[in-house]
Amino acid sequence: MRSKQHVVGRGAPSRLRRPPPTGRQLTALLTEVGQAIATSLGAREIAQTVVDQAVRVIRADRCAIYFVDPDQTLLEPVVAVDVRDPVSVRDLFYAHPIPVGAQPLFGRLITSSEPVVVQDTFDDPLTTRDFFEFFNTRSTLSVPLRAVDGRLLGVLGFFWTDVPHKIVRDEVELAAFIAGQTAVALESARLRDDLRLERARLGSIVESMRDGIVVYDPDGRVAFINPLTSELLGLALPVVGQVDHQEARLPAAYTRFPLTFGYDRRAVFNRVLRRKEPATGLQAIVGSDPPRLLDVAYAPVLDGDGHVSSIVVSFRDVTDLRELERLKAVHEANLKLEAVITSTANGVVVYDDQARIVLANPAVHELYGLPNGAIVGLAASDFAALVAPCFANGDELAAAVQRVEEQDDSYTEELEIVRPRRRIIRRVVSPVKTRDGTPVGKVAVYHDVTRERAIDRQKDEFLSLASHELKTPLTSIKGYTQLLLPRAGQNGTPEREQRALRTIASQVDRMARLVGELLDLSRVDSGQLQIQIAPVDLTALVKRVIDQVELATTRHQFLVRAAGPVVVKGDADRLEQVFTNLIENAIKYSPGGGQVEIVVEKHPAEAHLLVRDSGIGIPQAQLPHLFTRFYRAQNVGSTISGLGLGLYISHELVRRHGGDLTVESCEGGGSTFQVILPVAGPPTVESTLPQRT
Ligand code: ADP
Repeated sequence: MRSKQHVVGRGAPSRLRRPPPTGRQLTALLTEVGQAIATSLGAREIAQTVVDQAVRVIRADRCAIYFVDPDQTLLEPVVAVDVRDPVSVRDLFYAHPIPVGAQPLFGRLITSSEPVVVQDTFDDPLTTRDFFEFFNTRSTLSVPLRAVDGRLLGVLGFFWTDVPHKIVRDEVELAAFIAGQTAVALESARLRDDLRLERARLGSIVESMRDGIVVYDPDGRVAFINPLTSELLGLALPVVGQVDHQEARLPAAYTRFPLTFGYDRRAVFNRVLRRKEPATGLQAIVGSDPPRLLDVAYAPVLDGDGHVSSIVVSFRDVTDLRELERLKAVHEANLKLEAVITSTANGVVVYDDQARIVLANPAVHELYGLPNGAIVGLAASDFAALVAPCFANGDELAAAVQRVEEQDDSYTEELEIVRPRRRIIRRVVSPVKTRDGTPVGKVAVYHDVTRERAIDRQKDEFLSLASHELKTPLTSIKGYTQLLLPRAGQNGTPEREQRALRTIASQVDRMARLVGELLDLSRVDSGQLQIQIAPVDLTALVKRVIDQVELATTRHQFLVRAAGPVVVKGDADRLEQVFTNLIENAIKYSPGGGQVEIVVEKHPAEAHLLVRDSGIGIPQAQLPHLFTRFYRAQNVGSTISGLGLGLYISHELVRRHGGDLTVESCEGGGSTFQVILPVAGPPTVESTLPQRT
């Protein structure tokens, strides 16, 4: 029998009564248990500490701790010590979980919270001899281990072997005290175990998350960081324990990439702390290659009392997401743009930066009689080859292609297409640039101006016809007035009638000039304006013009500056027409009177004629249009009459002479027109076709 072995093996049936525990022993016990509670020891280690110390403090032969199962039917041995036989105690206790029903003593322990004393197990109603003989136990002092809430955790038992031990009150009280401490220690260990488990569970969740997570203490110290955060931010330092949220700037070498936060970290942190509300929609850019965009969110974690116990910051990499959204937006915008371009009646061709066609709408294909899509993908030169049969003038087409390939700024040109139908196209070509100004291609817009041009032609034809028809009756009216005027002076015609005759004569002159301008216009446009070249003295010419115009005004003074004869080769009548136009304009557009200065200068190869007035001037923005047909500046009002043709014709005439007509003016500041003529006359006498603007 095992019990016998124990008895025989030990061979010391009687013992002296041991002295009561010293204060030092008690202190040691309390310290150890206290430490076991404070350190993160598990329940088993705590129990071991307790029995090791308690057996000496109580001076029992054995001490053991049993835990009770949830059904409270079984006492499971957790730790045990036998002071005199440290080895065999293991077999004895650990091998024997004890059913609660095995002895009345155990049933009592389960229901009681007080220590239960059995002085002699062979003679007690709570015990049976057989049972305790087996364990060689004669006296027991057992205390239930109860948590603060009264739950039974287990039993702390002290045992004396061989002979009964007289258990005294001190021992019972001490045992109760130890049991109380032990219960607290075990309970906190269990809580800690639960916490540890919970932490591990949470930890694995956080680590497997797709977001970077940083947990801060309320003072801004990093309490936790998951590996993804380090990866996302490229952290180069261990940051746990650092107070990085109170820093306005991150420490140098904090990360491997420059970090740009789209928010004030400290302000956001403090706001979340103060308001106890999350902050979302924040962004940070990680300057890696390629850069990454992070969505950042702050969430406060509140403890049971409603205080912020920590702040969780999460980082999500949204680079790909944003790129997708951007691409989607671009795609949708493209679809819209394409729909607009496709449905527009004007032809549109979009070239890339290699002058290759990336987009061409149905209107362009229709214009050239091609199936839709036929020209998309072609280089400008291949496109030209494909549409060459549509042009009567191959040079015009070649020039157009060259311009698309070479000219960088916007321009307008006119193309004449003869097949499949005759069409006049005004083509506006503009560079396509990105927002930062990088050229990425060109867009050509085709306006069909065939009808406009036909109407223009009809108008020109009408003007030419009308002015021819008007010229004949005007000439005869003028002839008769000139015949009548001197006669009226001689034969005593009343003054009123003579004045009427003079008015008729001057108005006829005015009409003749207007009709002359209209005739010149059609001559210019049809290329029939002829000039007869011969030596002309500009100084003499100017003086003659002034003699003429001077008669019509009393409010203007003429100041002529000319060093002497300035002879050029040109058409005297046409140059006189130009000078008359400029000097008459100087008078006409200085309605308040004033000085008109005329300067004739001789330069080695050029002659300059300058007409300067102090009249109403011309608005700066309108200067570029001044030499186009029918153009009149906005400040002329309705009182100063004119057709807007004089300068157009003068400009053409000067150009035919190989020279140039320019203007300098500002509104209200007078105007200066300058004629520059080559002394040697025009380079070739042949007239060139005028450019229509
Ligand atoms: P018209 O005088 O018949 O209007 P022009 O072709 O001679 O036509 O002149 C065109 C326009 O230029 C005028 O309508 C006027 O607006 C402006 N202009 C010409 N000369 C002057 C000037 N000396 N001062 C101010 N404006 C002028």
